[in-house]
Amino acid sequence: MTAPDFFPHPEPTQSYWLTHEDDLANHRTTEELPQEADYVVIGSGYAGTTSAYYLLKDEKFRPSTVILEARSACSGATARNGGHLKPDCYLSFWTYAKMFGPRTAAQLINHEIKHLKEIKKLVEEENIDCDFHLTRAIDVFLDERVSVPTIQAYREMVKAGYLDTSDIEFWANPKEAEQVSGMKDALCAFSFTAGHIWPYKFIMHLLRRAVEWGANLQTNTPVTTLSEKPDAEGRWTVTTPRGTIRAKNVVIATNAYTAGIMPEFKDKIVPVRGIAAHIAVPEGQRPPHLNNSYAVRFGPKQYDYMVVRADGSVVVGGAKQKVLLSDSNWENVTDDSKLIEGADEYFDGYMQRHFNGWEDSGATTTKIWTGIMGYSKDFMPFLGRMPGKRGIWLNTGFTGHGMPRILLSSVALAGLMKGEVDDLSHTDIPWPFWATEERIRSTESVVQSYMAGDKHNGEKKN
Ligand SMILES: Cc1cc2nc3c(=O)[nH]c(=O)nc-3n(C[C@H](O)[C@H](O)[C@H](O)COP(=O)(O)OP(=O)(O)OC[C@H]3O[C@@H](n4cnc5c(N)ncnc54)[C@H](O)[C@@H]3O)c2cc1C
Repeated sequence: MTAPDFFPHPEPTQSYWLTHEDDLANHRTTEELPQEADYVVIGSGYAGTTSAYYLLKDEKFRPSTVILEARSACSGATARNGGHLKPDCYLSFWTYAKMFGPRTAAQLINHEIKHLKEIKKLVEEENIDCDFHLTRAIDVFLDERVSVPTIQAYREMVKAGYLDTSDIEFWANPKEAEQVSGMKDALCAFSFTAGHIWPYKFIMHLLRRAVEWGANLQTNTPVTTLSEKPDAEGRWTVTTPRGTIRAKNVVIATNAYTAGIMPEFKDKIVPVRGIAAHIAVPEGQRPPHLNNSYAVRFGPKQYDYMVVRADGSVVVGGAKQKVLLSDSNWENVTDDSKLIEGADEYFDGYMQRHFNGWEDSGATTTKIWTGIMGYSKDFMPFLGRMPGKRGIWLNTGFTGHGMPRILLSSVALAGLMKGEVDDLSHTDIPWPFWATEERIRSTESVVQSYMAGDKHNGEKKN
């Protein structure tokens, strides 16, 4: 395996979401880089953009802010994801309970659920044209190795009583599960409230607002180094090929690429490559009706996720059965210019294979792309002050599941930066998100064992 360089690849694949390029895509607010700023935000994805948005939202406090983006605006994981805003409202409960205790597990889940209403509210307040839909997600299990333990774990979770499960519906009978989900060979299914969105349009709208509120956006400007220490005036030096900026505060929103500018995060946030596709029926034809979003579980850690767009086309990602065949497909990979061998053909005939009524639909893959996620070693993002580095703020490492986690993280981070709260313990951010020294120092990682499923027993396979 070649070591990643931790910088975004200059020529990424094009995702379906990026087919409607925003006119801010290659924006530079000023021709030259400012030499100084109160805040430099590195990264213009969901985390960087919402950090800047909430930092600048209040017109009484508008510090000078520069947003630096290595490629075009919002061209990382946010613009390459599945568009699924899906709280993990039962599946990871016992994993989290084992890691952090059952009350914290419930807090983590409730924090995700809260995002649905908050994002809906924001989309409505801002009148964002981003195809936001509140829907039901259906998790469908096609293999007994996952259906049986999940049903048992779910029942135990309900009995333990830490969570309000009134929004979750559950079918353990295969016939009912197939009927409700429309999926062939379903063994059981769960459904609950979720959402889906055009993530690029959502974030580009908020980025435009931040620019209107005074942010200086500089795209195609990679940060190559961040000084190890601040200078005598307490300013950090942010170096790019176009010059340096001295900044009192720096927000790290670089997700998978964080170790590129902060070596402390090597092996703490691991770049993981994922793949997704857009599937549609031929133009002029009507797609068979589907109105839920999906997660499909084919075996341990072998899953896909899928959203159904209002035009009846779908965006589906995962292909884990193929991706996980070799660690070199996904682990420590920052290259989103290439597809994943084997996974590229995986989506051909996908709807016909798995969904009743789609056999003669003629549905084909219209777009396929890869993207790089930032998996943190304990699945939790790093949020808040960087310990020992005054003025460095973290909002990074969202582990392939940022949609229902980032917005409220950015709200809390902005509150900290503006001095409205002095510590994340005074917010409703679950403590596993806090960027503590202990977490950053720890060498333990659950990423390999989590991703591996039943593929191998702790051995690496290359
Ligand atoms: C294929 C795929 C499918 C996914 N599906 C889902 C899903 O359905 N639901 C869900 O919840 N999550 C999903 N995710 C994960 C989700 O997209 C991420 O959690 C989320 O977008 C992370 O946002 P971010 O802003 O932290 O990272 P990013 O969007 O990656 O933004 C980081 C930005 O920082 C920039 N950057 C990095 N280094 C530098 C540097 N040195 N200088 C300047 N700029 C830099 C990058 O270019 C990038 O634009 C998926 C991810 C992928 C790849």
